[in-house]
Amino acid sequence: MRRLRLAAPLALFLLFPGPVRSQAGPYAIRVGWLIDGTGGSAQPDAAVVVRNGRIESIGKALPAGQRLRILDFSSDTAVPGYVDAHGHITLVGLGEEADARLVSASNREQWVLCNARTALASGVTTLRDPGTYPWALALRKQIERIGPRWITAGRQLVKRARDTSLDEMFLEFDGPDDGRARARQLRREGAEFIKLRLTKQRPLPSLEELRAIVEEGHHLGLKVAVHIDVPYDDAVRLALAAGVDTMEHNAPLRLADSDELFSQMAARGIVVVPGMGNWQARIDTLSIPTEEIIEEPLRSKLPRKLAAALGQHAREVREQVLGWIKNGFNPDNRRKEALQETLRAHRAGVLLATGPDTGVDLMPHGRLYKDAYWYAEAGLPIEAVVRMATLNGARAAGLDAEVGSLLPGKRADILILRGNLLQDYQRLKDVALVIRNGRIVFNPASGPDSTACSELLKANQQ
Ligand SMILES: [Zn+2]
Repeated sequence: MRRLRLAAPLALFLLFPGPVRSQAGPYAIRVGWLIDGTGGSAQPDAAVVVRNGRIESIGKALPAGQRLRILDFSSDTAVPGYVDAHGHITLVGLGEEADARLVSASNREQWVLCNARTALASGVTTLRDPGTYPWALALRKQIERIGPRWITAGRQLVKRARDTSLDEMFLEFDGPDDGRARARQLRREGAEFIKLRLTKQRPLPSLEELRAIVEEGHHLGLKVAVHIDVPYDDAVRLALAAGVDTMEHNAPLRLADSDELFSQMAARGIVVVPGMGNWQARIDTLSIPTEEIIEEPLRSKLPRKLAAALGQHAREVREQVLGWIKNGFNPDNRRKEALQETLRAHRAGVLLATGPDTGVDLMPHGRLYKDAYWYAEAGLPIEAVVRMATLNGARAAGLDAEVGSLLPGKRADILILRGNLLQDYQRLKDVALVIRNGRIVFNPASGPDSTACSELLKANQQ
């Protein structure tokens, strides 16, 4: 553990000589900069004291007279553990058909655990999963043992339609009473929030239906998220009228009447998870060699088979984007517009959270930083970017009282990033240490990580 130097200034004594890895506290972390996740200014030269899995204090100096182990990261930056506000634990990042080439009934659990570990190693300490298969719910303990805290909607609700096939990740409803019954069913199955799809492929539910689901969800203590995937003002208005808690994908930023609707979203504290990093990842295939489409150090940490398949899939996505361009799509103009929409929503007070639809095309787990880069590139201060990657996602997950910020009393989910994040936002991907509930759960300096992906990695070498 090269990075974990033990400092012993005069007033401090080593109390716990055991390995830091197994310890929940008390200890102190000294950092060069601290960004607390609330959007407030970065603090230089901070000391964070952790005890019993929680943050006890944050200050300039270490508390006098206490015997604490010191973790010295005084050239590095502390932020709260990331919250991926939209990531699918069962998906590996290749899109449905290509996923199926790697994932089978005999190895799907391994892939889930590998995804969980990759996410944690990238700094994600909480993963909000707005759609998963029922079989994955049985893996909760294993996921959380080696990966992030996992908050899932289980199956996604969708309005019944004739002549449409249904994957087992979805559950249909028809009518307000049925909507309530399905919400209760999801709760019984293990859902921790409700996810409802408002897409153009299905009839839009009535306001009565949507209100019934939101009311029942809230009655059960569950937040209600809606998926709106194409510009669709009617769906956004319906969701607002029904009182939903979050909106997923970027359609809520592409409104004809954005001024009025943004101010409603802001007034109600609705969290929007646009996932622009996912859009950018597709566009990147035009300018980045397909085999390098996933950046280092993530690329080398992925099972080789997956990294190769992602390169192959990048070629397919590139062809698709070239097809759009032939039909008049201009990626540079669209990017400029989308960055402006993002800024306008942020300035109107809309709470935006990072969550690039992790697990879908070209977005393997471990790539949440790609979504955070988007906000930095839109011109937001780094403190606001960090808030989107932490506290706003925690709010979407209903966990903001416990996680998502570095404040006394909060759970000690702490991420140390190498160097000074204020000078270079790309350091969001340079993980030096991951702490969850006060325990060091990932330390890249302690050698190659061979916990969850080891079987898949072995299979790669055959
Ligand atoms: Zn999704």
